[in-house]
Amino acid sequence: MRAWAVVENAAPLREIELPTPEPAGTQVLLEVTHCGVCHSDLHVWEGRYDLGGGRVMNLKDRGVTLPLAMGHEIVGRVAKLGPEASGVAVGARRIVYPWVGCGTCQACLADEDNMCLTPRSIGIFQHGGYATHVLAPHPRHLVDPGTLDPALAATYACSGITVFSAVKKVMPLPPEEPLVLVGAGGLGLSALALLRALGHRATIVVDISAEKRAAALAAGAAKAVDGAGEGVTARIVEAAGGPVGAIIDLVNGTASAAAAFEALRKGGRLVQVGLFGGELRLPLPLMAMRALTVQGSYVGTLKDLRELVRIAQGGALPAFPITEVPMPQADAALTRLREGRVTGRLVLRAEAA
Ligand SMILES: [Zn+2]
Ligand SMILES: [Zn+2]
Repeated sequence: MRAWAVVENAAPLREIELPTPEPAGTQVLLEVTHCGVCHSDLHVWEGRYDLGGGRVMNLKDRGVTLPLAMGHEIVGRVAKLGPEASGVAVGARRIVYPWVGCGTCQACLADEDNMCLTPRSIGIFQHGGYATHVLAPHPRHLVDPGTLDPALAATYACSGITVFSAVKKVMPLPPEEPLVLVGAGGLGLSALALLRALGHRATIVVDISAEKRAAALAAGAAKAVDGAGEGVTARIVEAAGGPVGAIIDLVNGTASAAAAFEALRKGGRLVQVGLFGGELRLPLPLMAMRALTVQGSYVGTLKDLRELVRIAQGGALPAFPITEVPMPQADAALTRLREGRVTGRLVLRAEAA
């Protein structure tokens, strides 16, 4: 198979030849047709996360090996089943749930593989969708997109369930109660689409880019706040008409997290999703006195993916801007994302599509 792989961290992706995997046991081989380019791919490409205070987490130490075909927002067609795989036909189009684990622990058996303590995520710990082929460990990780646009359906495997899972953590919320979304990139626009589908009507979006704020307003945000410079907390509180009960931080860097935390009302909840990096200092007495919650949220479960696809198939989820890019231009797509020049989502499209 061909792959557009990270051969060296932070160096351009290279087109390389890898052995096409032979599905064993319950594994299923798919021919990739679409693969979203996710912001977290940039961290995998760089090989590190900034933990704040000068500390970094190297992905090499966590078991990521190179060369690696990244890509975890995958739609493909089933090409071959392992001898113990069943329930899906060769040629069927499927979304691949990428957040797989050991396959045998309580979390994995409950279809909450993303909470497995030994993650084997596709596109991170094993080859992903920046390639002509990809291996899924089990047919249960394959979700039928039905009549959904495959490029859009691909994004549900990461950005879709990531926002779905985060939104679930702040729900239920009255439709008119302000909810703040920090970040109006691909995740922010998916979150807006989902919140509208769920009937929420008071989403305030924070972003440093005027273009992204405009895109968020066009996508149904009630208000947009400039996230750059000083006074971000005050602008959020003013837009919301007071301190807020629910904030989802899709950026989650030192500055955005601090500004969001300061804007919480009594009983407020800050859900941290982004992987921008840095640290947050918590005033401990205020955590208790204001009964605050700061909660992390990592992608979503296999059950979330099935539920989200059902919601989308019902027609309630408006599409958000997607730009398709030919797979061989994977490196250029990654560069565009790194330079912040993407509104919505880039999705690589294979020749096989
Ligand atoms: Zn992702
Ligand atoms: Zn497991």
